[in-house]
Amino acid sequence: MNADVTQEFGFLIDMDGVLYRGSELIRGADVFVNQLRRRGIPFRFLTNNSQRTRRDVVAKLSRMGVQVEEEHVFTCAMATARFLAAQKPGGTAYVIGEGGLLTALHQNGYAVVDHDPDFVVVGEGRTFNLEMVETAVRMILGGAKLIATNPDPSCPTANGVRPGCGAMVAMLETATGVTAFSVGKPSPVMMRAARKELGLSTDQTVMIGDTMETDILGGVQLGFHTVLVLSGGTTRADLGRYAYSPNLIVDSIADLVDLLDQKMSDQTATEPTKPRPVRDWLRLPECVGV
Ligand SMILES: [Mg+2]
Repeated sequence: MNADVTQEFGFLIDMDGVLYRGSELIRGADVFVNQLRRRGIPFRFLTNNSQRTRRDVVAKLSRMGVQVEEEHVFTCAMATARFLAAQKPGGTAYVIGEGGLLTALHQNGYAVVDHDPDFVVVGEGRTFNLEMVETAVRMILGGAKLIATNPDPSCPTANGVRPGCGAMVAMLETATGVTAFSVGKPSPVMMRAARKELGLSTDQTVMIGDTMETDILGGVQLGFHTVLVLSGGTTRADLGRYAYSPNLIVDSIADLVDLLDQKMSDQTATEPTKPRPVRDWLRLPECVGV
């Protein structure tokens, strides 16, 4: 395998609605991931779900037949904890959230406290109650900074949707009159950090996602190539509502399996030492301002 060939591009891949829906694998997701691994193409799974740790995500994927390592997972909880550690090293946080967020904060030198925190940090979870909201409101009015791990208003479940982090944060914002700073997709704080983890440039990075407001908007803002899959929350009919478009729209990640095979065989057959840029393969326009 030619290392130059495999390092010319890589993928940031959303999980919910792209790899699986609820606990059901989307057809072809395992094949695509295996293909990336076999060919040594760099990738990270990029999720706005702050509930799970990296290890939890690896275990969930493994149950569904997708084998990856912890290093392949990049969550908004990790992005939030790293951001806070950079803003205020060794700080304190009052947390409305679960294990993924608590673990990430601890790993980044943060203490989780019940009194006088530097930050109130809100993530996904089922532990949310009005007592916590009241505590958080008091802290924010007392000077604690409000941080959202992500702006998603709802999360898909097997039964439909449940309220997401964005909905919980809206309650705190309304009660306090303070606007949260949000770290997850589409924030460049998370998307740029994930791109840097891939070790690739903007023009070498392809974002695959099912949500226009997060995956595609973030990708467009960062100048990444963007691929919208219709296997999640977005339909073709929805697209007219947005002032921005993805570079490529496919029914599901299964369609990318064939595209990738085609690209690799073209490359080997015609120009083994001079790989074509990813934009040729996805028939994408030149990125501006790389
Ligand atoms: Mg999604």
